[in-house]
Amino acid sequence: MIDPALVTVLSEGGIVGVTIGWVDNNGIVRSRTVPVAELEAAARRGVGITAVFAVFDSHDGITFAHDGLSTPSGDVRLVPVVDAVRGVTPLAGQPGIAWAHGRQISADGTPWPYDTRSVLERQIAAAADAGFDVRAGFEIEVVLSRESDGSPAHRGPAYSANALRDIDEFTVQLLRDLAANGIPIGQLHAEYGGSQLEIALSPLDPLAAADAQVLARQTIHAAARAHGLRASFAPVPSLANAGNGWHLHTSLSRDGRNALTGDDEHGLSDVGRSYIAGLVRELPGIVAVTAPSTGSLLRRRPGFWAGAYAFWGVENREAAVRLVPSSPLLGTEHTNVELKASDASANPYLALAVTIAAGLKGIADKAALPEPIQEDVGSWDDARRESAGVTALATTHQEQRAHLLASALVRTVLGDELLGAFVAVRDADAAWASEHTAHEVLESLRWIY
Ligand code: GLU
Ligand code: MG
Repeated sequence: MIDPALVTVLSEGGIVGVTIGWVDNNGIVRSRTVPVAELEAAARRGVGITAVFAVFDSHDGITFAHDGLSTPSGDVRLVPVVDAVRGVTPLAGQPGIAWAHGRQISADGTPWPYDTRSVLERQIAAAADAGFDVRAGFEIEVVLSRESDGSPAHRGPAYSANALRDIDEFTVQLLRDLAANGIPIGQLHAEYGGSQLEIALSPLDPLAAADAQVLARQTIHAAARAHGLRASFAPVPSLANAGNGWHLHTSLSRDGRNALTGDDEHGLSDVGRSYIAGLVRELPGIVAVTAPSTGSLLRRRPGFWAGAYAFWGVENREAAVRLVPSSPLLGTEHTNVELKASDASANPYLALAVTIAAGLKGIADKAALPEPIQEDVGSWDDARRESAGVTALATTHQEQRAHLLASALVRTVLGDELLGAFVAVRDADAAWASEHTAHEVLESLRWIY
């Protein structure tokens, strides 16, 4: 139920519509907008949407290859999440419109197995049962170009103030709008790729982190539009350049203290060691969820800091799992683990859920942590990688599909129904890609996230 005063406050603030957004299995944010007067009804009984959104592919095709959703019949309810904690956000960059995150429930009000928000909620509860609070934050990389002619919005150099000066007005609006929309960030900078920017979202509880990631995109798109720019969040906007990673940082706390921090040679506790071991062990399966698309497969190139190989390292930017340790300067609360093999084509709720589950399972199993690797394993030969036990993460649909289906962890986290839909969608995208060039694939994904 929604507080009637909220509708009055929104109306008096000039809000006429509330966009209810959710993320599909391609990382695409889909939405319905209701007039503000309909918000109360929407919160009570939802808005009707087709049941087949779980089997929409990245090209707006609908695959009926998954048994559970094999006909165009059926409706579910999209309900805005307007509980006491997370309300409706008037969008600073879209005057008149407010945002609410949506969840899907069955038409009879029971849980809908394809709802991804519930998947993350289950893992947060599992972490709490194990005695942990999870903190999470995404780093968003984005390539900006001019709407008029597609030219780069900034001309570099990477990490330079010169580059940012090219997009000064946009940056100022972005900082203002992110703050107004309640999205805390640590910093932003001109990233390494051509006309690329990175915005590091601050750590939050996992649901808030996934919600912030969704709202950050909306905020960035709106600020870009206001300044004649267009934002591409695609895993690979152009093969000539570094891709866009949406690296996922996680940490655990227990009794208010960072539970990963300890006193081994890397500053890790036993919990921290087995958390990382769990992630590394499950990498092939979880990256099929955290970097799942045909674009993700193309992004996974050695030498681009995109996590092409399944290993971990301390501050090693080529590692799929990078430990960001605490230090005397940063303090014991700083320890966190970055998953590089994560991008905008992932559903952030699912990405977080499988990542948390893999780490928790590592802890439950007391998984043994291999030695970190501090080098660029892409520069090694096959024999050396093999003797170090380092494998490449999937770069083809068939490999990735096999890893996805072989992962008991992913199956348990997603559930059979959602996993079935997820695989069907990956197959549909792969079929599309098989009839197009890599360039056409990237072109088709460039603006959709
Ligand atoms: N752009 C790189 C990627 O595709 C990451 C660069 C970095 O480490 O920040 O993930
Ligand atoms: Mg970066």
